[in-house]
Amino acid sequence: PTQTQIGLMSHEELRSEHERQSAKYAQLKAEKLALDLTRGKPAPEQLDLSAGLLSLPGDGDYRDGAGTDCRNYGGLTGLPELRAIFGELLGIPAANLLAGNNASLEIMHDAIVFSLLHGNPDSPRPWSQEPVVKFLCPAPGYDRHFAITESFGIEMIAIPMRDDGPDMAKVAELVAADPQIKGMWVVPTYSNPTGAVYSEDVARTLASMPAAAPDFRIFWDNAYAVHPLVAECAPALDILGMAAEAGNPNRPLVFASTSKITFAGAGVSFFGSSDANLAWYQQHLGKKSIGPDKINQLRHLRFFRDADGVRAHMDKHREILAPKFALVLQILEDRLGASKVASWTEPKGGYFISLDVVDGTAKRVIGLAKDAGIALTAAGSAFPYKQDPEDRNIRLAPSFPSTDELAKAMDGVATCVLLAAAEKALTQA
Ligand code: PMP
Repeated sequence: PTQTQIGLMSHEELRSEHERQSAKYAQLKAEKLALDLTRGKPAPEQLDLSAGLLSLPGDGDYRDGAGTDCRNYGGLTGLPELRAIFGELLGIPAANLLAGNNASLEIMHDAIVFSLLHGNPDSPRPWSQEPVVKFLCPAPGYDRHFAITESFGIEMIAIPMRDDGPDMAKVAELVAADPQIKGMWVVPTYSNPTGAVYSEDVARTLASMPAAAPDFRIFWDNAYAVHPLVAECAPALDILGMAAEAGNPNRPLVFASTSKITFAGAGVSFFGSSDANLAWYQQHLGKKSIGPDKINQLRHLRFFRDADGVRAHMDKHREILAPKFALVLQILEDRLGASKVASWTEPKGGYFISLDVVDGTAKRVIGLAKDAGIALTAAGSAFPYKQDPEDRNIRLAPSFPSTDELAKAMDGVATCVLLAAAEKALTQA
């Protein structure tokens, strides 16, 4: 049958729509699927692209260009040549970019812990001595960001996300008025999960807006800086330069990693910031580590050689990922396009598609999918405290499953969306 908008159906039509979707759902369950769309992990074929790393740097190769013996202790800042490559890609001078171990999330966590225990270079006192510490959380956003702030009892304030960044009127108003707001989570490029790319205007406002807290920090997590799904990559915005120009040089903390470039579990992380922030970070980092895994950094340096090496490598990821995203979008359009029960983002990069279903049905959709053997990210995950005020958002991660699995899973998800929508419309009719 041709699809009609569920909202326009008569009671009779709704009953038969519900029956139709229930029957489809029964078939779906009978297939006994075991599929997973939960996390944005690279697929095995993507990991294979970096297989060369496993035999690098190779026998007898353990010195970088400056002659440093990478096998030994030391070198807290990481290898200069690798910092230069990623500095070029991130738009940050190598002198202001450190290379670390495998997880940028660990550096974000450290930056918060150091701020809580010691304060940052602009803090009147450690954050932990403030009665309340608050962070702005553009939402939908990255669940692991919110998990860090939640774990330390930092109060999270959700800010609605738009296509070009968060609602900046709201951000500027809150940050100017409330000295308890000490930080803000930002994923500027191909954001998790909407794929939004922050505009230059938004970045400039973030860099220059007045802040009531002198030690206010923007956690600028450029995890997907070089991860387009189209030929042209969004440029890395010079947030450090913009902030310095506006007289707020210490405001941005920039993070990135090769987790979705090489090996998600064995890549290299990066931290970029002002001289003062880097000195502060290293002062505290130096207590927990004598230096990062420089052999892994050397391996990455040999593998890429230069920034173009990284870009060429990302083209290969794109060849694997773009068809998967296209497939998901096609299935969403085919199954849900006409019935107007859902809307979704069409990202130009990154790892996720953000699906909005009928208000009040996301939990139900995710539950239905689970019972049919399709694991979706838990309802509300993309919101602070896992609370989606409208219970409508579902984060889809197309990267890991094979194309066949993805097609099956998405068709199943569409059935669950339609069934939940029909259920809800029936109870309201
Ligand atoms: N930031 C964002 C926005 C992410 O989506 C992810 C991975 N899903 C990470 C950080 C994790 O980065 P890392 O592996 O460097 O800790």
